[in-house]
Amino acid sequence: MNAVPPAAAGAPARPARPARAARPQGQWAVDGTAPLNHNEQFKQDDPALNVRRRVEEVYAKEGFASIDPDDLRGRLRWWGLYTQRKPGIDGGRTAQLEPHELEDEYFMMRVRVDGGALTTEQLRVVAGVSTEFARGTADISDRQNVQLHWVRIEDVPEIWRRLEAVGLWTTEACGDCPRVILGSPVAGVAADELLDPTPQIEEIQRRWIGDPELANLPRKFKSAITGHPSQDVVHEINDVSFVAVEHPELGLGYDLFVGGGLSTTARLASRLGAFVRPDEVPEVWHAVVQVFRDYGYRRLRNKARLKFLLADWGAERFRQVLQDEYLHRALPDGPPPPPPVGSGDHVGVHPQKDGRRYVGVAPSVGRVSGEVLAGVADLAEAHGSHRVRLTPHQKLVVLDVPADEVEEVVDGLAALGLEARPNLFRRTTMACTGIEYCKLAIVETKATATRAAAELDERLADVQAGLPAPVRLHVNGCPNSCARIQTADIGLKGQLVAGDDGEQVPGFQVHLGGGLASADREEAGLGRTVRGLKVTADDLVEYVERVVRRYDAGRDGDETFATW
Ligand code: SF4
Repeated sequence: MNAVPPAAAGAPARPARPARAARPQGQWAVDGTAPLNHNEQFKQDDPALNVRRRVEEVYAKEGFASIDPDDLRGRLRWWGLYTQRKPGIDGGRTAQLEPHELEDEYFMMRVRVDGGALTTEQLRVVAGVSTEFARGTADISDRQNVQLHWVRIEDVPEIWRRLEAVGLWTTEACGDCPRVILGSPVAGVAADELLDPTPQIEEIQRRWIGDPELANLPRKFKSAITGHPSQDVVHEINDVSFVAVEHPELGLGYDLFVGGGLSTTARLASRLGAFVRPDEVPEVWHAVVQVFRDYGYRRLRNKARLKFLLADWGAERFRQVLQDEYLHRALPDGPPPPPPVGSGDHVGVHPQKDGRRYVGVAPSVGRVSGEVLAGVADLAEAHGSHRVRLTPHQKLVVLDVPADEVEEVVDGLAALGLEARPNLFRRTTMACTGIEYCKLAIVETKATATRAAAELDERLADVQAGLPAPVRLHVNGCPNSCARIQTADIGLKGQLVAGDDGEQVPGFQVHLGGGLASADREEAGLGRTVRGLKVTADDLVEYVERVVRRYDAGRDGDETFATW
């Protein structure tokens, strides 16, 4: 083979091909706003938020069959509604069927709870909606939302009326828009808090959630703000995050992260190195969303999250555009946040600023019910508390418990199935919705993970207490990573795998060694897929037990699972 290029060897040079014009990526600020796919088309044809009027005036009266397909599988998401999976369709058929063949005439409804903050009055209304309109279902999601199932379109206006009467919304709970704003679940409360982000979360919600100017983004946009030293809002995997930090000259404020996200192409957020004063957070948040709206890629839906723009631009260019074109001023440089302190799931009993206590509990993989939520509201109020919080770890926190009533509250919550002192896997296991309701799912998750956690806690009772750090187990029903598998010590991605006889059975691809920054891990890192490492759902418990025992036997002193 000739190693010398023909031109260099004296051969006549071929005429240079004209450079191919770069393919438009649908960036509004670069390529114009002409829609490049059906999704972009329907968002422009009729803004998604407009569907609410049709629900109230037509669909709720005329029923499921009257819903326009672009509303059904598109615009309704902007009001927190997804059709749910028809029962009985196995995971092997998920990719083969058309959306209308997979969906039921019922909806999942997502109630957004910005900052995870609920009054007991609001909790009771959610509980009532669950009992009356959602067959008693309720899941606490890992984005501080409450998800209800079995909702009929006929009941949606009444549900909105009840929720909105107590200041709750489903507005932009899903869709290509600013989703729920994650906030520290102990904002304004924890004795060790650095900054209370509540005013900023409330201002963003008041000014921009439901704003038509931000309701057509390239894809979903996830936000997180925390002033707690545990850094409890999984900031590394949001589109924009603000994490409390102390600037040597400017005092307390926030460090700004952008462009994180998981799904099939996981990317940890980039620090822009910019310091944001607390009162500037809403303005900077708004500017970041506008950069995404105007420069985000819209041609391919699976390349439309902000993380892809960050991957191409890098942090420096993003900050420059943010400052020059949107803020019209430079942000000061700032230091990174220190390593997290304490546990960000807030399970257990902890001191508040005012001397009272907050009590964090672990439902099993976030699953509760209308009955349980009503029970929590009753119990809290019986002890003088009127506030609860949901966490990004599928946990629930009761605030304002008098110090001398803590044990009664802990016992009362345990009677509701909510453990303040859970065993290891009850505490660390998370699971997404899975095949029970999700149209994209390949395998079952919630029941599988609940059973696995209970069994693992029994089988590994002898080693749990001695582990230097918790081992986190996250279970997904498909590659989309709603349960954040790449950020778990053991992450399981649902797929069909070969069973003992070679037939396809529900199982998981294994990811190992991931984690977000925490007290036992200074920096976030994504779990590695171990090639070929798959486990059937039936063998899951044995597999995890084996891995944990091997780690425990082989670890060097306080070596954590992630560094082992
Ligand atoms: Fe559905 Fe997949 Fe998300 Fe689970 S990870 S909720 S199966 S889309």
